[in-house]
Amino acid sequence: MAEKRKFKKRYCKYCEAKIDHIDYKDVGLLKMSLSERFKIMPRRLTGNCKKHQDLVTIAIKRARQTALIPYIIDRKNVVENPFDILR
Ligand SMILES: [Zn+2]
Repeated sequence: MAEKRKFKKRYCKYCEAKIDHIDYKDVGLLKMSLSERFKIMPRRLTGNCKKHQDLVTIAIKRARQTALIPYIIDRKNVVENPFDILR
């Protein structure tokens, strides 16, 4: 039985993209290390190197303070069908 894993290859995406500075305003970059509930992904899942994980963690925490990224997503706020609100 093959185990289905979400993250097959373990390599640092930031090293591959040759990024040496991660800006907290660049949400697109930070999203690579965020789960769908906006939690910081652990290094064992993303395969990021220590250097970049530290940079990303600082940037994400900074982005949360500036309200670019939510701290948590409440289960009550997760709507199954977003069009229900528009009605
Ligand atoms: Zn790296």
